[in-house]
Amino acid sequence: MKIIPISLPTPFYIGPVNVYLIAEDPITLIDTGPKTKEANEALHEGLRKARLRVSDVRRIVLTHAHEDHCGLARSVRDQAKDAEVLVHAWETGHRVGRLEYEEHRALLVRAGVPRDEVQTMRKMYDGVRQYADSFEADEYGELRDEEELEFATGTLRILHTPGHTPGSCSFVREADRTIIAGDCVLKRITPNPVLSPDPIDPTKRFASLSEYLVSLARLRSFAPTLVHGGHGDAVHDFEELFNRYFRAIQERQAQVIRLLPKSGATAWEIARQMFPDTDDVHRFLSVSEAVAHLDLAHSEGKIGLEMADGTEVYRPQ
Ligand SMILES: [Zn+2]
Ligand SMILES: [Zn+2]
Repeated sequence: MKIIPISLPTPFYIGPVNVYLIAEDPITLIDTGPKTKEANEALHEGLRKARLRVSDVRRIVLTHAHEDHCGLARSVRDQAKDAEVLVHAWETGHRVGRLEYEEHRALLVRAGVPRDEVQTMRKMYDGVRQYADSFEADEYGELRDEEELEFATGTLRILHTPGHTPGSCSFVREADRTIIAGDCVLKRITPNPVLSPDPIDPTKRFASLSEYLVSLARLRSFAPTLVHGGHGDAVHDFEELFNRYFRAIQERQAQVIRLLPKSGATAWEIARQMFPDTDDVHRFLSVSEAVAHLDLAHSEGKIGLEMADGTEVYRPQ
């Protein structure tokens, strides 16, 4: 069972995205790339090199529903005459190919993001949406933790590895401890635990970073020999990456605690201090990052948190 990486261009800052072809019955594509002409052409070319056509794809599996990974899913499915599309149920806000703006808006306001900034972020959502087609609720099947994707000569076990998004999944081939991890594992950068509504109770926010740490530990328990990520080169030394991520998370936490004034601050205020020069999408990601680290510090009892006028204020202990 051969896993063939195909790199596709994206219009996003992160650069090309990796999708994975398993050219074996049923022919399966893990992620599809964004809905752009360039990505579509590169996908066709990648399949052609494997002596396949898009119409041969029988199954589309999504690691998560960010536009750079899921954008072409509908188009591939249509060209492949109703290939099955599988995604984890917790990709609620994302699985239909768009971000649930209203739920995000409430989370941003609570994090102290000013009204005009929220508006700017709304425009950003609209801009990103064009890179993915939507799905209706009955148009995809569910990826379930610990179930197996079967192929003619092997299986991939589904691992629900939330953190980057609530419904992120990884896939492990236990025979040689190879993992396809989407944006859960990226060789060069620490993945952003994106600010998301909780999939069960959307009025709360998802504990992205705590969940992410559990997911990383779970991947580590397989002692992976090779991890294919959503962007960049494959990771051969997972242990090194695990320790590097862990250190980066501890350093970031120390930084957010250090930045907290005695009088307290919102996640937005901390984000502006951490990343003063960011704009557009990166402002949203910087708030995401601040919230994730402040929440983790709070859950570990290192800082306090209280509501003041509809926003959350973190305070040093
Ligand atoms: Zn992503
Ligand atoms: Zn990505």
